[in-house]
Formats: sequence, structure tokens, C-alpha cells
Amino acid sequence: VVPDAKGGFAIPTDLLIADKWTAGTSGKRIDVLNPSTGEVLTSVADATVADGLSAVDAAAAAAASWAATPPRARANVLQRCFQSMLEHADWLAQIISLENGKALPDARGEVLYAAEFFRWYAEEAVRINGDLAIAPAGGNRIVVQYQPIGIALLITPWNFPAAMATRKIAPALAAGCTCILKPAEETPLTALAVGEILRRAGVPAGVVNMVNTSDPGPLCSAILRDMRVRKLSFTGSTEVGKILLREASYNVINSSMELGGNAPFLVLDDADLDAAIEGAMIAKMRNAGEACTAANRFYVQEGIYPAFVEKLVEKMGALKLGAGTDTTTQCGAMINRAAIEKITSLVDDAVAKGAKVKLGGKVGEGAGFFYPPSVLADVPLNANLIREEIFGPVAAIVPFKDVEDAIRMANDTEYGLSAYVYTGDLKRGMQISERLEYGMVALNRGLVSDPAAPFGGVKQSGLGREGAHHGLLEFTEAKYIAVSW
Ligand code: ADP
Repeated sequence: VVPDAKGGFAIPTDLLIADKWTAGTSGKRIDVLNPSTGEVLTSVADATVADGLSAVDAAAAAAASWAATPPRARANVLQRCFQSMLEHADWLAQIISLENGKALPDARGEVLYAAEFFRWYAEEAVRINGDLAIAPAGGNRIVVQYQPIGIALLITPWNFPAAMATRKIAPALAAGCTCILKPAEETPLTALAVGEILRRAGVPAGVVNMVNTSDPGPLCSAILRDMRVRKLSFTGSTEVGKILLREASYNVINSSMELGGNAPFLVLDDADLDAAIEGAMIAKMRNAGEACTAANRFYVQEGIYPAFVEKLVEKMGALKLGAGTDTTTQCGAMINRAAIEKITSLVDDAVAKGAKVKLGGKVGEGAGFFYPPSVLADVPLNANLIREEIFGPVAAIVPFKDVEDAIRMANDTEYGLSAYVYTGDLKRGMQISERLEYGMVALNRGLVSDPAAPFGGVKQSGLGREGAHHGLLEFTEAKYIAVSW
């Protein structure tokens, strides 16, 4: 599939169970499309519920020995995974571009980001420290240690097929857990390629298992209802997150949820215009807008508004739209036809309600799933894209006069993942950041993601955090031992 597979190997297309690639029991395959052309790239095995439970068997068989593996030995495995991902970076980037459609620079950026989770959690694996306290009454000691939570089901989306997988696998392994990854139907190849990299890097049999399926509901529910499974870590839509929380409630499974976002991007009059534009380009156009952290709504103060709109149109208009794997492409394809239809309907709705099209705004012809970089100005607050995630290269801009109004508009959503603020006054920026009801705020920056920082949302954007030490603790349970003294 991958041209110039330099430094690569044959990409697996089956299920990874107990260190073996297997076609599973369904006899069926799932087609994987190239969003840049609409053509079928290849097909992957389609797991049944029985295959999913075989993966649980494999994870269960490996659980005790992996949990008992010394932290330093686990760290060494993770360090080898980090090195190996870097060695295969160009190859993996091509796979990502092919099946996801994103531009190669975005894909390379993702591979490096994805690899960093292995480095970070190799370092964290040896720092799972507990506590020792004297009980207030003085009669006993309180010992707390963090034990691996147990077998984890990891469910990932298609927008960052490598990074969303490693952001879960690395802390699970560091904590001493074994796992089953269910990648998104649209982008299984990246996950499977990562799976083979991990095998070759020495991850023991059964510690990481992978099951692709065309019907995730029954398979994931069956895994969550297996008493041996103790953890769910999900990244995807709020809608599916709610379904999974209900499924997890059956056996009271500990759940980490990274769900949808609706990020506001505030630009105050005193902001450095060039810096704000540079940040806006990253926050909006990284991954062609297909990110849960993507700036969805720009609130720009009146004094800087005309200049901001003009410059953003200029910069977004200069981006080259094209196939992800074409090295000159700066804005790749959307994931599928449905994504194009959703973006089109959001843009048409905003325009019908009075938004002004400053750039793009119309889908082009052709077989691939392309939407051009677009800028809508004077977007009315009743437009659907003010409430819903666009997940595409469309910037919706709203003017404001009073900063209090901007904060109110920014918080007026059921989501709370990430927000962006640009101002020349750092203290004011900090004060505004504290009042934004978001799990993450980027202050005079266009990017929040960092493996060393706790990534996650409030409200309906999720539960728990990934990355940092927080992400490790999500895969542990605090064990308290009361010691008589
Ligand atoms: P997106 O809208 O980004 O595609 P989804 O929430 O639909 O996000 O998908 C994210 C992940 O959730 C994918 O791996 C998908 O297969 C999986 N998924 C979708 N529906 C279910 C379900 N009912 N149970 C478990 N996983 C699901």
C-alpha cells in the first residue's frame, strides 16, 4: 500500500491477539479508503465478539506477569517503542496520510507527538510513588500504593490514529496494565502498524492486543461486560461517549473520556496581530481542522477585527489543498463524504442566517473528500456552527466590544475542552483564562497538546486526563493498607 516504504515492513491487516496476527472468525474484511481519492486502499480483518473476547483472554493471560515486571524493565520496553517509532517516522506518516487524508507535515507532526508518549511514560513508569502517613489518631500508619487498575479497553478515533493510540497504550503499559485497542474503522492501518512496531520493540505477548471491527457496539459492550476488564479509555464523540458510559456502568468500569469540543478563540484589541494570526492558523488548520481542540469560534474585539479577518483570509487562502501524500499539500482531505456533508450544511446554515463568506465556502468537484479553507465573518450567534463542532477548515468569526461578553459567549456551550486567548496583557490573560470553563486554555499560543501536560475537558467534553502524571494515574487504583503500629 505504501509507496517508498523505506524503513518499513509489510503493514499488518489482521487482528493482533496474543502476539499473533490472525484473520479472526468472521471471514469478513473491512475496506480501508484513501480519502484523497475515494478509492479502496486495502482491507482489514473484521473482528467478531468472539475475537474481542479472545483478545481479553490474551490480555488476562499476560496481566500478572506484566504487572510484576519491574518498573525499570517496563520503562526500557517503552523507551524501545519510542526509538522504534522515530526510526519508522516517515513510513508511519505516509500510512497516516494515505488512510486519513491529512497532509504529510501534519502526519509527521503526529508521529513525533505519538512517539513522545512512549518517552514520557518510560520516564513516568519508575515514578509511581505512593504515600506513607501517620494516622491523625496516632495509632496506625496509612500506606497508599498505586496498583495497575487491570485490563483496559482503549477505543480511539480516526483523526489522530497514531497519537490517540499511544496516548492510551503508553500510560497503560507504564502502570502495569495489559490492554485491547479498538481503532476507528476508518484508520486501522496506522494502529496495526504501531502494533507491529511495539511487538518488534519487545512488548510481551498479550500485553497489547488490537481488534478492528465494522460493528463496534456489540464488541465493545461484550468486552466491557467481561468481569476481567477494569478500565475504559475512550476518545471520540460525546454521543458515543455517553453510550459507552452506560455500557461501563454495567460492571462499574472506571472510565476516562476525551469527547467533543467547541473551542473559542478570543482575540483582544491589545493582542499582537501577527502572533494571533499565527496561533489562529495552528489552532484552526492543524490537521485541517479535524481536531477536538480545533478553534471552532473566533471572538475578535472590534478594534482589531477588520485587520484580523483580512490577514486570516490571506493566510488561509494561501494554503494548498490536495492529497495528503502529495508533498506540497498544506491542507489535506477530510475523512469521508459524511464529513463534507456536515461541513457544507453548517456553512450553508450560517450563510443563510447572515454570515459573510470571505473565503471558500463551497465544496469543489472531484472524487476525493475535499473542503477548501474557508473564512466566515460576522457569524450570527444563532448559526449552528457556533454550537456544533465543525471538524473542518472553516473559521467562523464573531466581533465583540466588551470582554465580559466574549467570556460569556465563550462559556455558552455544553462543551469545555480547550480555549484560546490572545492579549498583550499577561495578567489580564491569566484572569480571563481562569474564568473560561475549559479543561485547557492556550494563552498567546495556538497549541495546547503536550505529552507532559494533562489533556482533558470539563462539562460534556470528558472525564479524566491524558498525558502528564495524571494520565498514568488513570490506569492505577490507590490501594490503602492500614498498618497497626
Ligand atoms: P467520530 O465522530 O470522530 O467518528 P465516534 O465517537 O463515532 O467519533 O468514534 C470514535 C470511536 O468510537 C471509533 O473507534 C468508533 O469505532 C467507536 N465507536 C462508535 N460507536 C461505538 C459504540 N457504540 N461502542 C463502542 N465504540 C464505538
